Amino acid sequence: AAAVALRAVQKVYGRRGSQVRALDGIDIDFRTGTFTAVMGPSGSGKSTLLQCAAGLDRPSAGTVTLAGTDLANLSETGLTKLRRTRIGFIFQAFNLVSALNVRDNILLPSRLARSRPDRTWVAEVVRRVGLDGRLRRRPAQLSGGEQQRVAIARALSVRPEVIFCDEPTGALDTNTAAQVLTLLRQAVDDDGQTVVMVTHDPVAASYADRVVFLADGRIVDDLSAPGIDAIA
Ligand code: ADP
Ligand code: ADP
Repeated sequence: AAAVALRAVQKVYGRRGSQVRALDGIDIDFRTGTFTAVMGPSGSGKSTLLQCAAGLDRPSAGTVTLAGTDLANLSETGLTKLRRTRIGFIFQAFNLVSALNVRDNILLPSRLARSRPDRTWVAEVVRRVGLDGRLRRRPAQLSGGEQQRVAIARALSVRPEVIFCDEPTGALDTNTAAQVLTLLRQAVDDDGQTVVMVTHDPVAASYADRVVFLADGRIVDDLSAPGIDAIA
């Protein structure tokens, strides 16, 4: 089954005279339990695709189905609830709340959704990302790699069906990036979660099962694992 499906998705920015067609007819399914990397040159529409697929932005035309729901049928409130309870986000800039310690950052999605965190699961996530001894620290007291691991723990804390990542390793050194990618791989292999990751980095993409290439708002290549191995 598809965790995320896009049909004839278009996204046009701006008004008449100065329009940018960021997405120009995207049809794709991201199947449950798969790890997809989205690549392509700067300006090809990768971030826009992620934003539309994740319900952070609405397409100009076409349909997005996320976790079994046609996003067009949701109000802004419904969309927010869906994002907080069933979706995880990981960004290049970590997007942690500087005033909150690690533990409260990780629990933030549950608190915002006013749902009770599953303590056993959250403890497992904290252990997995290796942050047990860091729960009382503020983000500013952590290394970049640790901050991104907090962001991953926060994304995993609600056991999301889909995790969207935009350049999750863009600010990290090689070894730390490998740790982060291994955690994403584990979310797919051990927990059956679905990961969609925008990246410029071919090494990051090599952790995926599938690599989709965008150019000018269209999908121009779509390689699954054997195809990835053939170009690696
Ligand atoms: P990528 O992530 O591949 O670099 P983007 O999705 O960010 O590409 O951008 C695709 C195109 O849409 C680019 O031409 C970009 O300038 C344009 N674009 C992106 N966001 C906006 C916006 N909020 N307003 C206007 N144009 C935008
Ligand atoms: P306080 O700091 O208010 O005395 P605790 O530290 O015992 O309280 O826990 C407060 C909340 O923090 C708990 O509800 C729990 O969800 C969360 N929490 C505490 N320790 C962990 C942990 N190791 N992993 C994940 N969440 C934790």
